[in-house]
Amino acid sequence: MGHAVVLTPKGERWRRSRHPWIYQDDLQAGESGLSGRIVQVKSPRGQPLGQAFYNAKSKIALRWLTDDPEIPIDKGFWEKRLLAAIEYRRRIAAGASAFRLIHSEADGFPGLIVDRYGPVVVLQSLSLGVEQILPLLTELILQHLAPEALVARNDSQVRILEGLPSEKKLLAGSSPGLVEVKEGERRYGVDVWEGHKTGAYLDQRENRLWAGELVRGRVLDAFAYQGGFSLQAAARAGEVLAIEDSAQAVTRLGENLKLNGITNVRVAKENAFEALRRLDKLGERFDAVILDPPAFAKAKAELAGAVRGYREINLRALKLLNPGGVLISCSCSYQVSQELFVEILREACADSGREVRLREIRSQARDHPVVLTHPESRYLKCVALEVV
Ligand code: SAH
Repeated sequence: MGHAVVLTPKGERWRRSRHPWIYQDDLQAGESGLSGRIVQVKSPRGQPLGQAFYNAKSKIALRWLTDDPEIPIDKGFWEKRLLAAIEYRRRIAAGASAFRLIHSEADGFPGLIVDRYGPVVVLQSLSLGVEQILPLLTELILQHLAPEALVARNDSQVRILEGLPSEKKLLAGSSPGLVEVKEGERRYGVDVWEGHKTGAYLDQRENRLWAGELVRGRVLDAFAYQGGFSLQAAARAGEVLAIEDSAQAVTRLGENLKLNGITNVRVAKENAFEALRRLDKLGERFDAVILDPPAFAKAKAELAGAVRGYREINLRALKLLNPGGVLISCSCSYQVSQELFVEILREACADSGREVRLREIRSQARDHPVVLTHPESRYLKCVALEVV
């Protein structure tokens, strides 16, 4: 442990908040030669505070690893964290065949995502620090998870910010085709090479199972992707209308319906904004509407537009509901806080002229844990409203 970086006084105060990221401005001097290395972090007076991944090329200069300034960060260090992550999922995701095993900072691996899809494991390396130790992490994953295949979906935009190339790679095993997994009583196929994120939206797993219990009658699933919510909703619903504008997702959705022998879901390849408008004009009504759009605000600059987007779809959805109907409304934009999202829903309710009861406020599935001092790790909102 020979390398050290020194915080500014402001950087030291920021670190006291226990936020795991320290920005370039909060370092006394950058040392580009250390990029990708694990460094010891010191206070302005030279007191060692802990160890972190360092990257001079990223706005996020340091990603915190440990408060212990001396502990060797070797295979044993990472193995302990991996075993803890496995043990936690054993407790909270028992029985799930597709779930997140490592959720970056929340599992002590800053910039690493590891998702399990039955026999296949998919990882994303999203920081230069993780990228440097990927061979070692691969070894540990193979040793403790023994997957049939390990795939790197390193094609996330986030990698650009770390100075890393975009690529998809088979790290071990033989290239997987469509992987079949189970969620509750339903089965679905995952394309780990072409699917969104690492193949599926695992962060909604618990919300989908919960929604499946909640909805009845005629259900609208807008922004359906490969049918995550529709598959669960179909069990208790009379009929489901799934709206999705990606042709690839619509095809996969149809295959998932067949796989489960579901016949009460109709799929429309359409822009959901237009569909909501069209259905209202036609006087169509539903007993439940599910809104799970993509992140409308990926950056702060997009916030105003995102707020307008969320307000519009939620207003339209509320208008489509029968008395007693339920709106399940989600937002995965970190920039839109839970408070702001509830405020947007309040305004949509006011504009709709309907009396609405707040049923439940939920977040991401528990296999995507939240670090309290890392607000960015809590990004998903899922709110249920009921028209009275
Ligand atoms: N509910 C899904 C995940 C939805 S992700 C699940 O649980 O698996 C958001 C989806 O919205 C993506 O599939 C994307 O293709 C789709 N989408 C984005 N913009 C859209 C639009 N304007 N109209 C319809 N679908 C859209």
